[in-house]
Amino acid sequence: MDTRQTLLDHCSRHLGTLRNEGRYRDFTRLEKIAGRFPTYRWHGPGGQGPGGAREITVWSANDYLGMGTHPAVLEAAAGAVAAHGAGAGGTRNISGTSPLHAALEDELASWHGKPAALLFGSGYLANQAALSALLAALPGMEVFSDAMNHASMIDGMRRSPAKRHIWRHNDLGHLEELLRAADPAAPKVIAFESVYSMEGDVAPLHAICDLAEKYDAITYLDEVHAVGLYGPQGAGIAERDGAAARIDVIEGTLAKGVGVFGGYIAGAADLVDYVRSVAGGLIFTTALPPPTVAAALASIRHIRADAALRERLASRAAALKAALDAAGLPRLDSHSHIVPVPVPGADACRAVARRMLEEFSIYVTPINYPTVPRGTERLRLCATPFHDDAMIAELVRALGEVLRVAKAA
Ligand SMILES: *Cc1c(COP(=O)(O)O)cnc(C)c1O
Repeated sequence: MDTRQTLLDHCSRHLGTLRNEGRYRDFTRLEKIAGRFPTYRWHGPGGQGPGGAREITVWSANDYLGMGTHPAVLEAAAGAVAAHGAGAGGTRNISGTSPLHAALEDELASWHGKPAALLFGSGYLANQAALSALLAALPGMEVFSDAMNHASMIDGMRRSPAKRHIWRHNDLGHLEELLRAADPAAPKVIAFESVYSMEGDVAPLHAICDLAEKYDAITYLDEVHAVGLYGPQGAGIAERDGAAARIDVIEGTLAKGVGVFGGYIAGAADLVDYVRSVAGGLIFTTALPPPTVAAALASIRHIRADAALRERLASRAAALKAALDAAGLPRLDSHSHIVPVPVPGADACRAVARRMLEEFSIYVTPINYPTVPRGTERLRLCATPFHDDAMIAELVRALGEVLRVAKAA
């Protein structure tokens, strides 16, 4: 066998399958413009204007509060570059821990009302490293995982020896059924999210914590799509619902609502210290760059104090949903700032997104299998405080036109 040729043939065949099924991923080149969020420059094959780029409105950014280009955040990042340079220069253990890292971990712990917090290279790494470490801590551990949990949580669970039970999404009857059927002596962990990013729905935290208490389980909550956005200080759904004290581990990202980069967990001091001491995904990778850490710290301090930003996010999300409903456009029943519009079929979904961009200068991400099940493809709209009434009206007009044509075809 010619190994190299066989491998290349396999790659080509696989790419062909992806293209045939409309699942081949093209990365659209979008340039953020500081100070003008959510306006971006699109550098596409059909791009127009100076340098071949065209200005467009982005409706699918995970920078949910526009903090990625907030002046206080930019100033903190620039100041840290000038003072400390661009990179950390080592793992946390090998000269990579600065006072900024410690200050950010203190800030995160205080934000979530937990004794300790620990930074990771991303939210993905935080879930992968923390879950795989915790689920290997006690012999015979079993984990109960919501069916729509993020790939990073699934990755962490799979890397552990724990037996995995999957409960139907947000179906607490099913969760209890599985908990009741499990070995009462097995140490149990319930792993779930607060805001689910592909559905826009929200988990009933207290009801899940009630079951955790009844069956003596630890709770692990991914608040990635909620941190910055919900609760009096923006710490997430657990803060909003007064449930943070009932959650053992809160996991979050610094890359979405916070607008920067990095991930973390928060929880009991020795539990966090244990993960710090054993998790390969933390130990063997370089610490976050000081400018990133300084920017995240400035962003969180701003977010905690700015409740008006969250109120504006909520009112913009409500305005978006009302406008879609008034125009008779379909949407999933969202209870958050994320509003999915169903467009079944991978090809159809991609084609609608393509036309929105090319003809109306609006960017919406098509979500296909394997991110969501086949047949439930959708456009994922995210309202932010900066999407004004004119942008909403333009989006609804364009969507109405493109979806009507798609239906007629
Ligand atoms: C995006 C995402 C992550 C990963 O966070 P990153 O910081 O982008 O790596 C984890 N969990 C969920 C639910 C996510 O959507």
